[in-house]
Amino acid sequence: MTEVVHTRAELAAALARLPRPHALVPTMGALHEGHLELVRRARERHETVVVSVFVNPLQFGDAADLARYPRTLDADVAALEPLQTALVWAPGVDDVYPDGEVSVRVDPGPLGTVLEGASRPGHFAGALTVVAKLFGTVRPESAFFGEKDYQQLVLVGRMVRDLDLGVDVVGVPTHREDDGLARSSRNVFLDDDGRRTAGAFAAALRRGADAGDDAVAVARAALADVPGLEIDYIELRSPDLGPAPGHGPARLLGAVKVGSVRLIDNLPVTLA
Ligand code: AMP
Repeated sequence: MTEVVHTRAELAAALARLPRPHALVPTMGALHEGHLELVRRARERHETVVVSVFVNPLQFGDAADLARYPRTLDADVAALEPLQTALVWAPGVDDVYPDGEVSVRVDPGPLGTVLEGASRPGHFAGALTVVAKLFGTVRPESAFFGEKDYQQLVLVGRMVRDLDLGVDVVGVPTHREDDGLARSSRNVFLDDDGRRTAGAFAAALRRGADAGDDAVAVARAALADVPGLEIDYIELRSPDLGPAPGHGPARLLGAVKVGSVRLIDNLPVTLA
């Protein structure tokens, strides 16, 4: 049976009983196959896998987005049951932020102000701060993050390196629906038209990635014909999100709005 704990004291007591070292899979819940893939990968490496389920207010700029974010803890625990996850930690906001506010936050540096950071000011400071707190509380040997949130993955890796946090950060490829749409907890907000449009976004990014050097132009051209979709950005960068290299591995990243739903995705590209 997957054990579910809420408070820090319960977490500490459970961790003291479980085999170490252990892995952490941080999530905001509303678990789907993408999250489960992270857990499977973590389980391959460690007997003890802690899945945290916490919708972190600090990383939401928009109160309405935070309020409507899906919260499905019972279903999440049921989905984890077959994976023999040792522990689900589902803290309340008061457990994570007992003083209400944090006055010290992690500064993501210049990479926190581009791509997602440009559209969502303060998002990565909030996300990295909670990840640092989760690391400090759970003390995992390794932590698993999805390539779906590629900029977050890169920034967590950089935080661990720059601040010597001593956690092995493992990236896991994006899990997709049959039409290529990346699984996301926010996909439940798409109606039938929106779902088709979201599939077209994934397909356009795929065409761009296949086009190599012309990735951005090809992806944008493919999106030009898609009604009901607004491009936030389509950018080609190096794998560590610096400027795109002249040749070799690169990353194509995109964000669009489909109605009120913001979707992000990214793919590896090889430049000639
Ligand atoms: P979230 O609950 O959206 O904060 O995501 C928790 C973790 O799951 C993050 O590391 C995400 O990158 C990862 N994740 C979300 N969707 C996917 C997906 N489709 N494939 C792989 N990982 C994912």
